[in-house]
Amino acid sequence: MREFSFSAANQVYFAPGAVSKLPELAGKLGARRALIATGPRVAALPSVSSVIKALEAAGVETKIFTDIEANPSLETADALAQEYRDMGAQVMIAIGGGSPMDAAKAAAVVASQGGRTAEFSAPGAITGEVAPVIAVPTTAGTGSEVTSFAVITDRQRELKISISSPYILPKYAVLDPELLSTMPPSVAAATGADALVHAVEAYISLAASPMTDALAEKAVSLIGGSIKRFTANRGDVQAASNMIVGSALAGMAFNQAKLGDVHAMSHPVSAHFDAAHGEANAVLLPTVLEFNALADSGKYEKIYSLLIGRTPRKFEPSMLPEAVRKLFESLGLPKGLGELGVDPTLIPELAKDAMLSGNIPVNPRTTAVEDIIKMYEKAL
Ligand SMILES: [Zn+2]
Repeated sequence: MREFSFSAANQVYFAPGAVSKLPELAGKLGARRALIATGPRVAALPSVSSVIKALEAAGVETKIFTDIEANPSLETADALAQEYRDMGAQVMIAIGGGSPMDAAKAAAVVASQGGRTAEFSAPGAITGEVAPVIAVPTTAGTGSEVTSFAVITDRQRELKISISSPYILPKYAVLDPELLSTMPPSVAAATGADALVHAVEAYISLAASPMTDALAEKAVSLIGGSIKRFTANRGDVQAASNMIVGSALAGMAFNQAKLGDVHAMSHPVSAHFDAAHGEANAVLLPTVLEFNALADSGKYEKIYSLLIGRTPRKFEPSMLPEAVRKLFESLGLPKGLGELGVDPTLIPELAKDAMLSGNIPVNPRTTAVEDIIKMYEKAL
């Protein structure tokens, strides 16, 4: 067993209707003014207006910031921080998918420490407490509610920047499966696939430990058992509960174990072609699993068994990428990078960007830039 360190410091609340806890949580943080960070689709949900009403009724003044786009930019995080300061807010409540949660986590740094978001991308750049964030995911998901990372897009350089620090871990993660019910099926499939990729990459990562393995195994089994039913009917509270808890478990796993080549390769695709993160990951996972099969230490069979809910009589590592491909196809996810608008002539540039990712060194099979190019070509 390798040396490891493990921490999971934030408080996670799960319950159907858990958003009703928000006034109490804001109170625990001593906040009288809350800035709600969200996107335009989520802002229109009745549950968001009832959250605002409940906060106001509890004496918490609120303001809502809805200008958060998919793959949020440095400018968006800066604007959110400015709004927080202008309002004199004492807590940031991020309601939405990975985009508002990541934007809020990055903005929390600038809101408390000044400067601009771009200045905090270097490791160790965040040196103290930041504005408190309560994260309320409405997808299942990115796991951002339980991680110390925020991924922000530098539009000028067409690069995704990862801001990482234990200080940006949200103080509270509020998991309410009822919030998932209005998600379109394509978003349910893509975000569910992302959560599965988190669990799988964390599980086979070189930085995995028995602690993260336990989290990842449970995540694969919850997601594998529910992703089809959930995509078919987001109002199925049982399936939605399994997905939102599975997604958080996967987030806690990769928060410590990191990810791998799938995420290293998907971030440049999203940065250059504005592709949905979950869709890019779903397209890349089978190809990367084929590449990594050579390094398999027996974990492929475990993932396969947890994913399909039974142990096969005879197992070959190639059965796992095949099962994943079939699952994603049944969910209606895109099959190739071409469908996401990837221009093949840019593959060398994408590969160069992918190699900068901190996930490359923990991928189970040592990966060179030529390997990345081959995998992009294969996934086209
Ligand atoms: Zn992801």
